[in-house]
Amino acid sequence: MNSAAKAELFRELPSVDEFLRTSAGASLSSQYGSAPATDATRAVLARLREEIASGLLDVRGLRLALDGLTGAIESNLRQSLNHSLRPVINATGVILHTNLGRAPLAQAALEHILETAGRYTNLEFNLEAGERGKRDVHVERLFHRLLADEGHAESVSTIVVNNNAAAVLLALNTLAEGSEVIVSRGELVEIGGSFRIPDVMSKSGATLREVGTTNRTRVGDYEKAINERTRLLLRVHRSNFEITGFTEQPSLSELVELAHRRGLPLMEDLGSGALVDLHSFGLPNEPNVLDSRRAEVDIVTYSGDKLLGAAQAGLISGRPDLIARLRANSLFRALRVDKLTYAALEATLLAYVKRDNDAIPALRMMRLSKEEVGSRAEELAENLASGKMRVQVIDGESIIGGGAAPSSVLPTRLLAVTCGDLSADQLATHLRRSDPPIIARVEDGRVLIDLRTVFPDQDSLIAAALARIA
Ligand SMILES: *Cc1c(COP(=O)(O)O)cnc(C)c1O
Repeated sequence: MNSAAKAELFRELPSVDEFLRTSAGASLSSQYGSAPATDATRAVLARLREEIASGLLDVRGLRLALDGLTGAIESNLRQSLNHSLRPVINATGVILHTNLGRAPLAQAALEHILETAGRYTNLEFNLEAGERGKRDVHVERLFHRLLADEGHAESVSTIVVNNNAAAVLLALNTLAEGSEVIVSRGELVEIGGSFRIPDVMSKSGATLREVGTTNRTRVGDYEKAINERTRLLLRVHRSNFEITGFTEQPSLSELVELAHRRGLPLMEDLGSGALVDLHSFGLPNEPNVLDSRRAEVDIVTYSGDKLLGAAQAGLISGRPDLIARLRANSLFRALRVDKLTYAALEATLLAYVKRDNDAIPALRMMRLSKEEVGSRAEELAENLASGKMRVQVIDGESIIGGGAAPSSVLPTRLLAVTCGDLSADQLATHLRRSDPPIIARVEDGRVLIDLRTVFPDQDSLIAAALARIA
């Protein structure tokens, strides 16, 4: 097409103002707001202009595009005004999936957020005294009930920061800036999302003193490394990996004994600290805050949104004199959390106090038996036994995730789905494009759906999405 012909086409395009003055334009402005409507009109017209310039649009193409102009602008508006953060269905079977926001909140936590966050609260206001208060009080009393030694509320303090990475940073900075911290070489871990113990250590201003080897560290290795610059012994839970074979690691009580004999505190980064014993869930290797307390570890850090099942937060529990020093550090002010987090934590901790584990979605999902997951899968499979969709129910494993040990898996039943000549990746893409998006695993040329991590009221949404694809 020559440039005269193109100029002809350009003249057919309305200006942004002309479009907005039409009745269709005016109605989009009043429905979506004039600034977004202007932006969307500008974007759609610019795209048409580019298409003319590059020769993609001829006279007929342009006519068609102009007929659909209002629709194109409206869909641009919808997209740009949609929430980007939205609910998805987690059919991966990974209970604490970091990319999917880790722990879903308990209903009670949602209600507590709803009742407090849209109004003013006593976040930092002491209602008794009518004066400024501390935000920690809202969860401190509950942590006392959950963690304190029998009848000794003053035996433990807890503070809350933004996440466990912040908790480790604050603790190391407070207790060991300019001095040495002793860590085993077998525990210099990297957790997904770029949390590396040596990096956090250097940001904290503490010097890492590595002892032992990757697979074997003895308590004597720690002892030999202690010198006048040592301020802290650190134990890091290995989280997302395991060392097997010819291995040795001192027990927690051996480390506590050494630290206390040498007048040093022992800090433990638990990562995914549970507040209940997960033995009965079939997960014997997951660390639990109570075990560390019982072993007299001086200070423990753990995440709020891993096995604890609440909001993103870093919890630091331990000896009140050490916690008081952390609280006095100006970094604490920079790392503190908002009222939404306190609301979610308070309601979740209350569920623990009431021993209502099933109120916490992540714990409820872990307790589901293979049979319970299987019968939901069978029901879903029956409803789909038609068309090109082939669905089988097979044995498999759900994964705890969120820094839990790789061996921490739960037996489950999976829906294994294939559909006509769609590849497994194509089928997974269709599921991701459903509304709400469904995220599944792809393995061995099949899409695997684990209903353990799907809320029961979402089963029918998965069935409907699969039926639409078939
Ligand atoms: C997950 C994890 C962290 C990081 O916790 P965030 O709450 O994600 O900041 C740190 N240490 C260990 C051992 C972990 O498992």
